[in-house]
Amino acid sequence: MDSREFKDAAAATIDDIVSYFDNIGERNVVATVEPGYLRKLLPSAAPVEGEPWAAIRHDVEAKIMPGMTHWNHPGFHAFFPCATSYPSILGELYSSALSTAAFNWICSPAVTELETIVLDWLAQLLGLPACYLSTGPTRGGGVIQGSASEAVLTAMVAARDKYLRETIPADGDTDADADAREDAVMRKRSRMVALATTATHSSVRKAALILGCRFRAIRVRAEDGYALTREGLAAELAACRAQGLEPFFLAVTLGTTDTCAVDDFAGVAQALEEQHAAPGAPGEVWVHVDAAYAGAALVCPEVQEATRIGLVGRFHSFDMNMHKWLLVNFDASCFFVRDRDWLIQALSVNQAVYGNKASAGGLVTDYREWQIPLGRRFRSLKIWFVMRSYGVKGLQENIRKTTGLGDEFAEWVRGRPDLFEIVTPPRFALTVFRMAGPTADASLEDRNALTKTLYEKANASGKIWLTSTELDGRFAIRLMTGVRTTEREHVEHAFKTLVAIAEEARA
Ligand code: PLP
Repeated sequence: MDSREFKDAAAATIDDIVSYFDNIGERNVVATVEPGYLRKLLPSAAPVEGEPWAAIRHDVEAKIMPGMTHWNHPGFHAFFPCATSYPSILGELYSSALSTAAFNWICSPAVTELETIVLDWLAQLLGLPACYLSTGPTRGGGVIQGSASEAVLTAMVAARDKYLRETIPADGDTDADADAREDAVMRKRSRMVALATTATHSSVRKAALILGCRFRAIRVRAEDGYALTREGLAAELAACRAQGLEPFFLAVTLGTTDTCAVDDFAGVAQALEEQHAAPGAPGEVWVHVDAAYAGAALVCPEVQEATRIGLVGRFHSFDMNMHKWLLVNFDASCFFVRDRDWLIQALSVNQAVYGNKASAGGLVTDYREWQIPLGRRFRSLKIWFVMRSYGVKGLQENIRKTTGLGDEFAEWVRGRPDLFEIVTPPRFALTVFRMAGPTADASLEDRNALTKTLYEKANASGKIWLTSTELDGRFAIRLMTGVRTTEREHVEHAFKTLVAIAEEARA
């Protein structure tokens, strides 16, 4: 493809993208194809001769679109959103043109420097304490990761390394000293445990699995709103101690996946301080804040206040995905640490080929030392474009509008106590509910069966997509209103669909 052909193809592609968004509501939300549908439509090997763009473009609509589930459809109420926006798409366009691996500052200084700057902008916008800024008092800072799962794995590696450094001194410099320390490290590692809760995202368990660490999930209860409490954590810390285990990592969540619960940050900090102050206390527990979805809402000062976000200054790392609810497309997981040296000490592995004068001078950031992979994409460009195009006000408006839609939906659900029951109060544009009754003494099984039928029939309409969860054996439906294209009329449509099915079930 030469530059003339590229220009024509790009213009046509932009037309297709605009038309896609203009008409997205006319499509079904979820793909209805059968598994393996695409293999039947495509040749069994790559073409030997290059094909014209027109043929390739034709196949996007004919063969790919039928197999797409539309995450930016206004009727997409499932999981959490996977955002995109025009400025973000433009960022990706430049980024793919400027293709760079940018693992060291010198590999493209603009890639590193823009990332540091936009993450400082973001930290301020979210109301994070100054310790998470690159210019803050503790040499903290942010780095863009591919996903919240990658961020928690990175945090856990750094936490493990920090704990071992602080609890096993590196005395002596002989080979025998090094062997003795390695033995001590391995013995200690067998007792170290990562903590989370039964409501924590599965990525934390997966990180422990990858690192070969013990893992304990603290049970959270309906009466605490499925959030971790001081008492719950203190009891688990005591239980670990009694078993000779050493907690080194705790994941707390701002906006759990099932119900958008927020763990009690003040209580967590207090329980950890109490354990640390006790005689013979083990090392400090690293606390990672997983705000993958709901962290986006912190762009609104009222949410910063309600969540007392300043408390995260007592923890060690914080992560949120702009690609969920903040108008940047996948992937843009923004990971902040209070002290960058914790990452660098754990992840800096040198190889002669990557050495250069700038790195040796120590004045630059080499993001390869803040992450698991070596190479990295130019992801800050799309964040920069989105922040500049929407401005703080535009980002806040997106959160307030979609949160308001969720609150309104919950009000409608509350207005039909004959049909529905709210399971957890609406939070961050998510409502969790189930079918009421049919009688006051209906069994759990009957109510679960009724709710399941409602859920399946609502999704069968094709125009909305909901997800479900199970809380203490109760089957419940989650309805999320955080997609940028969702308007009041779409939420109203979803509610009317649910009412019609529920009334029919009652008839
Ligand atoms: N944490 C929470 C609270 C989530 O809800 C999710 C996914 O929805 C994740 C982590 C994992 O996100 P990612 O796909 O970026 O790894």
